[in-house]
Amino acid sequence: MKDCIFCKIASGEIPAQVVYEDEQVVAFNDINPVAPVHILLIPRLHIPSFNDIIPEHKELIGHLAWAAGKLARLKNINEKGYRLIMNCGRDGGQEIIHLHFHLLGGRPLGSSLVAD
Ligand code: AMP
Ligand code: ZN
Repeated sequence: MKDCIFCKIASGEIPAQVVYEDEQVVAFNDINPVAPVHILLIPRLHIPSFNDIIPEHKELIGHLAWAAGKLARLKNINEKGYRLIMNCGRDGGQEIIHLHFHLLGGRPLGSSLVAD
């Protein structure tokens, strides 16, 4: 997708601190971390938001979830715990219109459902 910053990261056109990648997904450190571990996980495929998931994406979304769990283990936050967030749309606070999970951990994150 032209003009999508996350597509450009996935293709290597824009640099990022990539921590995991395979044929389907890329994971990289958030440029503005809010926790010691703050990784963004994206599908290489440009899916704009959670609203745009179709049945053909089911395996891909499952793979994205699997990769998040793998990274939690890799970053050693799996036992203490972590948070996975996906913002959707304007009210959901989504700023980059390319579906992504935030993987947050490395400190107590509290039990609040909303960040702020
Ligand atoms: P969201 O509000 O859920 O769309 O989150 C977008 C996230 O992307 C924010 O946490 C930003 O800090 C992060 N971000 C924006 N540009 C970049 C970039 N070039 N590299 C890494 N993270 C980025
Ligand atoms: Zn994109």
